[in-house]
Amino acid sequence: MSLGCPKALVDSERILTQLRAEGYATSATYHDADLVIVNTCGFIDAAVAESLDAIGEALAENGKVIVTGCLGAKTEGGENLVRKVHGKVLAVTGPHATDEVLQHVHTHLPKRHDQFVDLMPPLPPAGIKLTPRHYAYLKIAEGCNHRCSFCIIPSLRGDLVSRPIGAVVREAENLVRQGVREILVISQDTSAYGVDLRYKLDFVGGRAVKTKMTELVRELAQLGVWVRLHSVYPYPHVDEIVPLMAAGKVLPYLDVPFQHADPRILKLMKRPASGERNVERVAAWRAICPEITIRSTFIAGFPGETEAEFETLLQFLREARLDRVGCFAYSPVSGAAANELPGALPDEVREQRRARVMQVQQEISRQRLQRKIGTAQRVLIDRVGPTVAIGRSAADAPEIDGVVHIKTRRRLAVGDFIEVKITAAREHDLVGVPVD
Ligand code: SF4
Repeated sequence: MSLGCPKALVDSERILTQLRAEGYATSATYHDADLVIVNTCGFIDAAVAESLDAIGEALAENGKVIVTGCLGAKTEGGENLVRKVHGKVLAVTGPHATDEVLQHVHTHLPKRHDQFVDLMPPLPPAGIKLTPRHYAYLKIAEGCNHRCSFCIIPSLRGDLVSRPIGAVVREAENLVRQGVREILVISQDTSAYGVDLRYKLDFVGGRAVKTKMTELVRELAQLGVWVRLHSVYPYPHVDEIVPLMAAGKVLPYLDVPFQHADPRILKLMKRPASGERNVERVAAWRAICPEITIRSTFIAGFPGETEAEFETLLQFLREARLDRVGCFAYSPVSGAAANELPGALPDEVREQRRARVMQVQQEISRQRLQRKIGTAQRVLIDRVGPTVAIGRSAADAPEIDGVVHIKTRRRLAVGDFIEVKITAAREHDLVGVPVD
């Protein structure tokens, strides 16, 4: 099974958990498998090519292949793209389709009857995790109600469907019982959680609680583990969770994908919450919670972006002084509305603008990291070696941010929390020693 983004990873975990609950086993090799399930990504062209290659490889090596994931929902010339390229696959589903995938597995690889297993009442599946034991992604919703012009996720994953808050909190509690120390809340738009359900009441430990982001954060804050929020759009109610960060209930970390700062470009992008005064918002968040880490992503060279509009983006970065920034040169995604916009910029201009964003941000990020030298940071250990352990502070999400290199001969274990005194800062990472 191939993996893409954290949301696809959660889909893979659900499929594997259900398969295991039904008595199927997984294999590390194509050769030993009776069939192969390939979970795909279809967002950008590179991911499409990689997914199609993975399907081709599975067909060549094994022959019995079921395809699921975003690429499975893509069409080309009215025809399913996967079937068009790989006509021999057994079945194709879209993303978030555990039941459908299981039905196809039942058809092509019926369960063997086991008199002992089949007579047992169904057990709640323990849950297979594809992340290390000490952290886990918690998917709170599927799909998205927005229609950003550069994005095709709503056409692949559908409109927003939130999970009721009771189920989400129960899953989080189970993860904590299994030893998870950090929960990463993910969805396409975490701030919109519950909108589709009109914030319907559900039960958490016998109490009626609204299915809403602020309520969810309050519930997760009681679990005694790190809680990190991803894909939070700057709607007004986001302000309500910053005091919880200041109080140490959830990590002081916000992943807010601003994408641009110029009002006309944001309008062309059809971005949610684009009318908010974001420099002032960032300043207000920092006034409440000075330790907050703000990460964002931007697109440079959007169709029609003038030099002045691009400068507005650079000026925003200079004023907002975000901690961590990723920037992509605009790249048309097949099927996206933005492809029809006039004023496409040459590739080299898009790339130059991306590089200029990173150049401006590099110095800001460096200065923000330097401020941490001499401070003590709580660090969650990810890897241990004989003289150096690698961990992450509250400011570092796995896979996308920096790490903390801890010089120590102390016996540490993955999943430990330790206090680290920061002694140096590199471009993205920190270096430190344990506080005695
Ligand atoms: S908010 Fe916009 S970019 Fe994000 S998934 Fe929805 S449509 Fe795509």
